[in-house]
Amino acid sequence: MEHKKITKVLIANRGEIALRIIRACKELNVKCVAIFSEVDVEGIWVRKADECYPMMGNALQAYLDGERIIALAKKAGCDAIHPGYGFLSESAEFAESCAQNDIIFIGPKPEHIALFGDKMASKVAMKQIGVPVLEGTDEPVLDKKEGEKIATEIGFPVIIKAAFGGGGRGMRIVLKAKDFSDMFDSAQNESMKYFGRTEVFIEKYVQNPRHIEVQIVADKYGNVVHLGDRDCSIQRRHQKVIEIAPSPRLNDAVRKELYRVSTKAMFRLGYESVGTVEFLVDEQDNIYFIEMNTRVQVEHPVTEVISGIDLIQRMIEIAEGDKLKFLQEDIRLKGFAIEFRINSEDPQKNFMPSAGKIDTYITPGGPGVRIDSSAYAGYTIPPNYDSMIGKLIVSSLDWEGAVKKARRALDEFYIEGIVSNLPLHREIVRDEDFIAGIFNTSYLDKKMDIFNLKAVDSQAEEVKKVGYISKLIASIKEHKLIVRS
Ligand code: ADP
Repeated sequence: MEHKKITKVLIANRGEIALRIIRACKELNVKCVAIFSEVDVEGIWVRKADECYPMMGNALQAYLDGERIIALAKKAGCDAIHPGYGFLSESAEFAESCAQNDIIFIGPKPEHIALFGDKMASKVAMKQIGVPVLEGTDEPVLDKKEGEKIATEIGFPVIIKAAFGGGGRGMRIVLKAKDFSDMFDSAQNESMKYFGRTEVFIEKYVQNPRHIEVQIVADKYGNVVHLGDRDCSIQRRHQKVIEIAPSPRLNDAVRKELYRVSTKAMFRLGYESVGTVEFLVDEQDNIYFIEMNTRVQVEHPVTEVISGIDLIQRMIEIAEGDKLKFLQEDIRLKGFAIEFRINSEDPQKNFMPSAGKIDTYITPGGPGVRIDSSAYAGYTIPPNYDSMIGKLIVSSLDWEGAVKKARRALDEFYIEGIVSNLPLHREIVRDEDFIAGIFNTSYLDKKMDIFNLKAVDSQAEEVKKVGYISKLIASIKEHKLIVRS
């Protein structure tokens, strides 16, 4: 196999993941080129890259215009493009187009992106390899009446899913036959709105499952290694909010089986690069493949923390044609890591996005704390993109220690100017079920009512306390000790 050294990478993304890729490149002595839309002029990744290029015009389109990005990569003398997550990361057409233009796409082969971009086709492929999947349709359901018949055969509740969906969109749970028709229409409409396609399929809906996923790393030579699992059950509207590596309560036999089927399937398919095989685990510990993500994921840092392996760097090396430098038996997973997605949204207003200027941004630190974020004090969050502004990752040798660290770090985190979901995280890490490691995908729905989502911020209180500083000065003069309340 041909080996081609990557010397300069164009980062076809923005925000925290663009910065994350720059960090990986710097350590590998690879030059990096950033792009930015006109609303992203203040982006920190723009400043940190070796070169940066404006992509004027529509703010969203800036990171989606494959042709223009490839032309720019060529002009800037890049030999590779890293797509990050979202945007072009799961476009088989873009990966193919990179290859045709002699640019290395840092990711899997186009045929795997295409296969797994279709959730229904990927279920069929995985089933053929012997990976358990949920009962459901193998073909898109076009007719509503036919769909209702199939749903009745499967047995309610069922879930209608956009075949080309993602990010929790284009999914509708149908509890009873009478709701089927409305839900079918709304799943199709949402799929059209976000993905420009209407193909939907039906599968059995699992009550109270856990979402467990397996991180895969595979090279071009058939070496497939897993880096353990992540528990992403804490979700809101089918979107992940907190991710944990490894799952704090997973039966050993189930865990082994997840690893076995994931690595076997990826080996059989000849998959290369990093990727995530996602499963639902039901209350009886049955496992079901739901989808495969052919890219680096938002939650990759928790795996990096417990494995000590830099996933972005390995992606680059694999794309160059390197053999994996580790085998399965070399992998040692250590401790627990928890990631909290920090979103600029208002938990008290049904998590409405809250764009605007960040006035104060004090991040936690100390042992076992990692911050992957593109935010800073003075930064104005544009309203055009996702509301995630960063991630807090904490780790410790045991689960209890990781939860304690999470509490401490979340309390240290102080953001002023915009509203964030920090109050939600602070409630979760004090919840007895979370502390006991007992949660499934229904967790947040059930807890939301009892959580206090008002931002009670000890630092804010302190900073704002009228006369606090003068009180301090007075205490010095009077040699008096001030005890913080
Ligand atoms: P997306 O690609 O939009 O993230 P997924 O297929 O990965 O969609 O599913 C996201 C989440 O939706 C899962 O983690 C789970 O909470 C829920 N979900 C998906 N399929 C089912 C199902 N068949 N039964 C119950 N919950 C499901």
